[in-house]
Amino acid sequence: MLKEILLYQQKDAALVKINKELQNSKEKNEVNKLVEQVKQAQNKLVSLENQASQLIAEFERLKVSFQQKSNLINNLKKADINTKSSTQLREDETEIKKEISGLLTLSKEIKNLSNKINQTVTAFDKTKTYGVESKTKYKASLNKFNELEQKENSERQKILLEMEELKKTINPSIMKKYLELRDDHKFPILVPLTNNCCAICSTPLANARLDLLNKDGIVECENCHRIIYQKK
Ligand SMILES: [Zn+2]
Repeated sequence: MLKEILLYQQKDAALVKINKELQNSKEKNEVNKLVEQVKQAQNKLVSLENQASQLIAEFERLKVSFQQKSNLINNLKKADINTKSSTQLREDETEIKKEISGLLTLSKEIKNLSNKINQTVTAFDKTKTYGVESKTKYKASLNKFNELEQKENSERQKILLEMEELKKTINPSIMKKYLELRDDHKFPILVPLTNNCCAICSTPLANARLDLLNKDGIVECENCHRIIYQKK
């Protein structure tokens, strides 16, 4: 009985190894790297889009200001000078000078802003191209990984079938315990008694448990709950 469950674990270990190799393969690394690249490009696009809408809103605001100042100047210029006193005319002149200087500042700001908008649009286009390229590369790398996985699948299927056969010869309560620990991602599950201790967590076995081990051939580790067996 012990022989069968140990053999079962051996085959299980082969499965674990195949899965680990797949997860650590350069193909899988490439997939992970490209997933990250695509994500980064998407985040950058979102932030550039926000930046662009803020800049455009600012641009619209400046345009309105510019228009208001221009209208003000035109109105002052259009006014009939014959109806105005010389004091009023001087005031108008000062006002026009002030508004013109404001317009010059505004037009500089608008020019700067429009440069910034152009830069943002260029960065957006560049990032978009990079994102599309990354996505294409990601798809290719995923295909490569799937191919590799497919290759390993036939080997995995073979091992799984052998394990199913072995299962029939194993005590169901031990099998149940084994599968529970397996679901807990504990591996290996059956460990040899080593210097009267659990080989994995090094917890010593009390005499009573050693007796139980001698009697049943296996005993549960009180600490990590793995199945301890006596090496023949
Ligand atoms: Zn243990």
